[in-house]
Amino acid sequence: MLYAQLEGQAFSEPIGKIVCVGRNYADHAAELNNPVPDSPLLFIKPGCCAVNVTSDFTIPTEQGEVHHELEIALLMGETPHKDDDIVSAIAGVGLALDLTLRDVQQQLKSKGHPWERAKAFAGACPLTEFVAAEQVEDWQALTLSLHRNGQLQQHGCSRDMLFPIEHLLSDIHSAFGLQAGDVVLTGTPAGVGPLAVGDELLLSLNNWLEVPLRVGAQHESL
Ligand code: ZN
Repeated sequence: MLYAQLEGQAFSEPIGKIVCVGRNYADHAAELNNPVPDSPLLFIKPGCCAVNVTSDFTIPTEQGEVHHELEIALLMGETPHKDDDIVSAIAGVGLALDLTLRDVQQQLKSKGHPWERAKAFAGACPLTEFVAAEQVEDWQALTLSLHRNGQLQQHGCSRDMLFPIEHLLSDIHSAFGLQAGDVVLTGTPAGVGPLAVGDELLLSLNNWLEVPLRVGAQHESL
C-alpha cells in the first residue's frame, strides 16, 4: 500500500482509487483533435499505479511514446458530506503526471476499447508531495507548469478548466463515491508530449511546489 505525502508526512489513509478527467481544458482537447465534452469524461487509474516522486521516476521504453500530462491532484481527506461545501473534503493539493502510452491509447481509441493499457500500467501516476488544502484561498487560482529540459512545455490555471473543481468533485462523487485517500486528477492543459529517458523536468504549483524530476527507464521484465 502506498500513502500520499501531505506536508512531509504520510497521509493517514492509503491511496485508494485515482479518478481522472479527460479533456478538462479546451486547449488540450483541441491539440488532440478531440471534441469538448458536455459532461466530465471520467476514467480511473488503480491506486497501485501511483508512485511518490521527489527526484526521479521511470517510464516504459518499448511500447511507443509515453506522454506527460501534468495535472493538479487533489487528495481527499474524507467522504464529502451532503450539507458541506464539497471542497472542504479535500485534504491536500499537489501535482500528478497522468502518464499515457499515447500510441497504445490511439490504437485502443480507434477500436473503441477501454484505455487501461495506456493509462494504468505500473508507475503510470507519479505524485508529488501535497500541500495542505487550508493554504488554498481560491480554487480558481491554481497555476501549474511543466518545464522539460529547460523549456516551458505545459502551463495552465484552474480558472480555465471546463468543469471547475467543485463541479468535478460532485460529479465524481455521485458516479463512484469518494473517500479518504482517493486522489482526483483534474485534467491536463495543452502542451502534452513525449518523454525521453534522461529528460529533466521541473514541475511547479503556484509558489508552493517546485519539483525537479529526472526520467529513467523502466525494466520491462516486471
Ligand atoms: Zn490526463
